[in-house]
Amino acid sequence: MLLTISTTHQPATDLGFLLHKHPDRFQTFDLSFGDCHAFYSEANESSCVFNLLLDVDPVEMARGKKRKQSFALAGYVNDRPFVASSFMSTAISKVLGTALSGRCKNRPELVDTPLPLEISISVLPVRGGEVFLRKLFEPLGYVVEAKRELLDDKFPEWGESHYFQVKLSAQLPLSELLNHLYVLIPVFDFQKHYFVDRNELEKLLTKGKGWLESHPEKEVIVRRYLKFQNSLFRLALEQLSGNTSEEEASEELIGKENAEHQIEKRLNLHSARLDVVCEQLVKSGATRVIDLGCGEGKLLGRLIKQWQFKEIVGTDVAIRSLEIANKRLRLDELPSFQSERVKLFHGSLMYRDSRFQDFEAAAIVEVIEHLDAPRLSSFERVVFRHARPQTVVITTPNSEYNVMWPSLPAGKFRHPDHRFEWTRAEFKNWADSICKRFDYTVEIVPVGPVDESVGAPTQMGIFRILPVGEIAEKLQTEAQVKFESQELEQ
Ligand code: SAH
Repeated sequence: MLLTISTTHQPATDLGFLLHKHPDRFQTFDLSFGDCHAFYSEANESSCVFNLLLDVDPVEMARGKKRKQSFALAGYVNDRPFVASSFMSTAISKVLGTALSGRCKNRPELVDTPLPLEISISVLPVRGGEVFLRKLFEPLGYVVEAKRELLDDKFPEWGESHYFQVKLSAQLPLSELLNHLYVLIPVFDFQKHYFVDRNELEKLLTKGKGWLESHPEKEVIVRRYLKFQNSLFRLALEQLSGNTSEEEASEELIGKENAEHQIEKRLNLHSARLDVVCEQLVKSGATRVIDLGCGEGKLLGRLIKQWQFKEIVGTDVAIRSLEIANKRLRLDELPSFQSERVKLFHGSLMYRDSRFQDFEAAAIVEVIEHLDAPRLSSFERVVFRHARPQTVVITTPNSEYNVMWPSLPAGKFRHPDHRFEWTRAEFKNWADSICKRFDYTVEIVPVGPVDESVGAPTQMGIFRILPVGEIAEKLQTEAQVKFESQELEQ
């Protein structure tokens, strides 16, 4: 895969200063996915041609790859070594990092000077064809020349491929051009060789500064660059339009990353769910409540506002979530009469823990579906036998409702970490078995808009402990039945 950058600026060898690469040297850089060679094929006063040749090693690339491939050898047999892709962006930032960031000690005046530059990309995979290619480069002032390759020149009847030879020319500062390439090359095809996360959002905002904000295809660029991750996409757009500060965006993102599937958000389901749970806890008459699997403390925020609760505790297995909860609830800043009411601690619902005891009510909101089904029985004992609050409010998705979201593929869960999602009958069975084994009663209530055939998106079980008298009566009846059946046998 070859990328060339040339100029007719006089003296053309100034390009060497800007690129921080000496025209007489042939250099090889060892990148994690292969070698990158940097050299000039021409360097004189009137013309200078710089080459970046990527030699991607498919064996190295496939090593350690856990992702499912479309066929057994797909890790080795693919187009990555031959096309400009996210590997090229990485090479640009690793090998031409100084030029990319617009620094040049020897010719600082050239950094912002528009130069006549020409780029040639030997093979660019373009999903969206020539029209898309032009839509992305032409608004940035490039003259685009594109030649589409045949799938196989021995079989012209197979038609054209999505691979293009591309030439771009424009008069602009070199660092601008490198930033354009860095962002746009991976946008043309959908593959990225690394995981896309918040760092990627920051890279996009830095490299896109000054041009992406006003690009007419901003949305599609951002969407593809961030690999269709909706939460990142929306944050990027907000920031590009100047609505959110970076800090706000990053805070918001942490919440979004852990939140349920986007579709749920449109219904504002989580917020409704937490309101309903809070209402039930108030109704229970409890003064000491515990939120088991409290996550980032959204329910705790609601509970704090209810003065009926004298002691409010949140616990979670994820320390990071607890840190966020602590920050969100500003526990360090609360006056002592408030902060004494609220406590957080790190714990797991899989293990018996005396700190879960002595609460009149417990909430377990959207947690059970994150637990491995075979280990659910440990959780049941921890909560209903050992912690044993008078009231336990549990919510979990109703899987029947998933068909109402066309964007959720059939058979998929709402969140990648869900281990199961239950139908209404499955939840009821489970709830009934809890009641039977641990002496509780349950009331099951739908939460969210109710559809006639599939029910509501969320199901909530309000478990109430049986009064001691009733438990005694039940034990007596059971003992009686046992005694009678033994008598019958004899
Ligand atoms: N109840 C919160 C968070 C729901 S997400 C809310 O409604 O906003 C599920 C939470 O369960 C996560 O915070 C996760 O860390 C927590 N969790 C998963 N397994 C757990 C376990 N074994 N013990 C305690 N918490 C657990």
